[in-house]
Amino acid sequence: NRRVILKRYVTGFPSEDDMEVVAGTARLAVPPGSAAVVVKNLYVSCDPYMRTRMTKHEEPSYIPDFVPGEVLMNNGVSRVIVSSHPDFKVGDLVWGFTGWEEYTLITNTEYLFKINHPEMPLSYYTGVLGEFRKYQFMSCTVFPSYLRNVTSFAEIKCMPGLTAYSGFFDVAKPKKGDYVFVSAASGAVGQIVGQLAKLTGCYVVGSAGSDEKVNLLKSKFSFDEAFNYKKEQDLNAALKRYFPNGIDIYFENVGGAMLDAVLINMRMHGRIAACGLISQYNLEVQEGIHNLFCLVTKRVRMEGFMVRDYYDSYRKFEEEMVGYLKARKINYVEDVADGLEKAPAALIGLFTGRNVGKQLVAVAKE
Ligand code: NDP
Repeated sequence: NRRVILKRYVTGFPSEDDMEVVAGTARLAVPPGSAAVVVKNLYVSCDPYMRTRMTKHEEPSYIPDFVPGEVLMNNGVSRVIVSSHPDFKVGDLVWGFTGWEEYTLITNTEYLFKINHPEMPLSYYTGVLGEFRKYQFMSCTVFPSYLRNVTSFAEIKCMPGLTAYSGFFDVAKPKKGDYVFVSAASGAVGQIVGQLAKLTGCYVVGSAGSDEKVNLLKSKFSFDEAFNYKKEQDLNAALKRYFPNGIDIYFENVGGAMLDAVLINMRMHGRIAACGLISQYNLEVQEGIHNLFCLVTKRVRMEGFMVRDYYDSYRKFEEEMVGYLKARKINYVEDVADGLEKAPAALIGLFTGRNVGKQLVAVAKE
């Protein structure tokens, strides 16, 4: 059972060497008398929030820290290969919280989900169709010790589609004709936000870190305009070029200098959906924002949100998104690393911008 473990706690920028792929024995049997399953993992998701869990927090964080020596965990898509559970049979395709490993024994199947739309690419359940779930109690015996002891919660944190959907519609509250700006726009969340904004009749501009990504935004994700922020000397000037009348909605994925430049370009009563601040995740001390007072003078509502607040909307979201994908009203781009050996590099790549689209790892053939 090859698996990816955390070698040591991380400070600053993470490296591949902070993780290790190790071999171990797979437990391909369920405990006697249990209602459990063993799954073969097909895809596991790479998400920026995993970096947070690689640091040791003195105060409890919003999600438990990973533990050195233990397997990394995240959302994945799997096939049931052993089952003593009446609701799951061998061969079922499922998705849920699993290990970055070949096989995982799950003894608490309460939050293991069957794939609702097997006609869609399976990997989409790590991304555009991924759901958030709050676990009341996690008792998966192969979960690392820190999770076994957590009785209050654990989470599936892989839901870029629902994040985009709830952050855009519920937090940013768009209107037809709004001027919308999205950062990290070609990524898992950003590509969906931009396309939802277009479907709502907004004018949409995205920023990304390479010319290839900028082309993708315009050619595949139907953004009206896009720019490579790494080539801009002056982000304020770049935004003025694309938004001479200002920005109504900023979907914030990166923070730092981009947020500062956005603030002075916001329109009156603008809304900022603060989804993530990836430019700050590897810094010991966060960068200063100089233009924060613009929130006051322009009566801008900048609202943070966690996708966990919206999981009740999942079924509605899923049906709507499957409809968009089937009708090709929304395109979805994935970046699939082949094999667990490539998983550490894939995760690190989120912080250098190496990924083009939603990053995931193919663990085994479907
Ligand atoms: P992406 O697929 O967008 O991958 C991360 C991208 O961020 C990289 O490809 C890179 O793109 C960009 N990036 C990395 N470092 C920097 C930097 N220093 N400055 C600017 N851009 C950078 O990831 P996701 O779509 O999964 O996540 C996007 C954001 O959404 C993250 O901040 C994440 O934490 C947040 N998030 C929040 C959730 C919530 O509940 N609030 C839930 C899920 C995600 P580029 O080449 O364009 O620089």
